Amino acid sequence: MVELIQFILYLYVFVVGIVIGSFLNVIIYRVPQGISFTKGRSFCPHCQAPIKGYHNIPVFSYFWLRGKCADCGKPIAIRYPLVELFTGLIAILIFAVYGFSFQWLVVFSAGTILICITMIDFDTMIIPNGLVIALMAPALLSFFLFPEVGILSRVIGIFVISLPMLILTLFIPEAFGGGDIKLIAVAGFMLGWGNALLAAFIGLLLGGAVAVYLLVQKTKDKHMAFGPYLCIGIMTALLFGDIIIQWYFNLFGL
Ligand SMILES: [Zn+2]
Repeated sequence: MVELIQFILYLYVFVVGIVIGSFLNVIIYRVPQGISFTKGRSFCPHCQAPIKGYHNIPVFSYFWLRGKCADCGKPIAIRYPLVELFTGLIAILIFAVYGFSFQWLVVFSAGTILICITMIDFDTMIIPNGLVIALMAPALLSFFLFPEVGILSRVIGIFVISLPMLILTLFIPEAFGGGDIKLIAVAGFMLGWGNALLAAFIGLLLGGAVAVYLLVQKTKDKHMAFGPYLCIGIMTALLFGDIIIQWYFNLFGL
């Protein structure tokens, strides 16, 4: 019985996650084009036909319609159901750590903003200021909900990565985008300095690996977005930072 209730709870959180993921797709598509994301129905990017309500069920509609627009038959990008699915999984993962709580709400809202930043930076190489400002809300709320991260640690967190990045950008223009620097400054306040370092370390490791891969592939485009890797680092540090740092120190018997 307890297992069944647990299962229903997780299923509920997952459904909430994919529905919100569906809304994130709208934000990711519309914000870079400057279209309002609160007004107007979703429409097919090919034929502009509005998407009917019963064709707009997250994840399932994609498979029901076999990945094609119901009106013009042109393929729907697989990333739409993937973003929905991923948002659902993130919702469950955070629920597994925090249960039903304000902590869940705050960490999940940070997660949704990070998903939008990841996809938009990937698409356009730009992190919209509006999303970094939006991230300030969960960052400020985390100050009250996670009192174990002290104010000094948070203030140092703002600068510990952003300042070196800023200085590096003065010497090597375009080393990092302004959006990356603002993002890690806000995330640093949310994480505290230890987890901010961890987030940047994970981001640099992943971003560095992809950069090396792109060099080996000799792709013509020298630019790559760093934001997505930074976002993965921030999310990992938010959820598992303390466990990872503890594990790391244990390795050296500290
Ligand atoms: Zn269409």
